[in-house]
Amino acid sequence: MSHSNSVEFVPNGGWDERILVCRNAPLVDTFIVVTQRYVVIVDTMINEVTAEKLWERARPYLTPSRSLLVINTHADYDHSWGNQFFAAMNAPIIGRRASVPIFSEPDPLSFLQRVQAEEPDIFGKVIPTPPTILFDDKLTIDGGDLTLHLFATPGHTVDHASLYIPEINTLLAADAAEAPYPMARTTDGLPAMRQSLAQLAALNAATVLYCHAPTTLGAQLLQDNIAYFDKLDVACRAALARGVPANPPEDADVIELVGLPYAQAVPPIDMWQNIHEYYRTHGHTAQLRMMLASLAGIGA
Ligand SMILES: [Zn+2]
Repeated sequence: MSHSNSVEFVPNGGWDERILVCRNAPLVDTFIVVTQRYVVIVDTMINEVTAEKLWERARPYLTPSRSLLVINTHADYDHSWGNQFFAAMNAPIIGRRASVPIFSEPDPLSFLQRVQAEEPDIFGKVIPTPPTILFDDKLTIDGGDLTLHLFATPGHTVDHASLYIPEINTLLAADAAEAPYPMARTTDGLPAMRQSLAQLAALNAATVLYCHAPTTLGAQLLQDNIAYFDKLDVACRAALARGVPANPPEDADVIELVGLPYAQAVPPIDMWQNIHEYYRTHGHTAQLRMMLASLAGIGA
C-alpha cells in the first residue's frame, strides 16, 4: 500500500456534531471528540505530519478552559505513529498498558525499518512513541457534556480499546470491527475478537464509527462481522468432523478444504462481494486457518 500525508474531514453523515471524523486516505479514519472540558484526538495517524494536521483541525476548539487529550485505540502504525508530535508538546497520550511494550517489540520495529526504506518521505522520521497515561481495562473521561468510556476490546490486537459515549449513544469501535471483517492476528486472538464484537453489539449504539469502514455502515457492520465468523465457525466445525486437519499443510487450499468461499461468508451485496482480492483469498484463508486451530484447541 502506498501512503499519503493527506488529512481531510469526512462530511458529517448524521452523527453528533461534536464528533469530527478525519481521514488519511485511503488508509484510516480517526476522530476528534469536542467536549466541554477536553478536545480529544482519538488516534494519531501515521507520522508527525499527519498528526500535526490533526492538531490543526483540533486547534480551533481549544480554549483556555478546554485542553487537549490524545488517545490511542491500539499500537498499530496507522493509529499511533503520530504520537511523537503530541509527545513533543507534552500533551497527555492515553493508552492501554498492554500497548506500551509493543512500541519496542522486534516485529513493529522491523516493520518500521521496512516501510522507512520503502517510503522514506512518509515514514523516514517516525519514532514509535508509547502513550504516557496508561489504563488496564477501563478508563472514564468526564468531559462535562460527554462521558468517554474507554474499554478493552482485544482480538484484532491484544491491546485494542474502543470508546463509548452514552449521552449520544455513540460507539467508536476503531479496528474491533472492520469492512469486510476484522482480522485476528493469532489463533488466541480470534475468540477474543468474537467476544469483543458481541460486547460491542450488546451496547446497541445508535451511531457506530470505525477506522476502516465507510461511515455509512453503522451498527449493521457489527452484525455482519459477527455473522461472518459464525459462518466460519459452523463450516470449520463440520470440516473438522469430516477429518480436515486442524493445522492443514502450508500448500493446502484451505478454502476448498473447508468448503466456504469468501463470497458465501459475507452478505450477497456488491460492496462486500467486490472487495479487494486480499480479503477474498489470503485474508479469508488466514481466518479459516485460525478458526480450525482455535476450535481444535491449538492455541498460538
Ligand atoms: Zn487500523
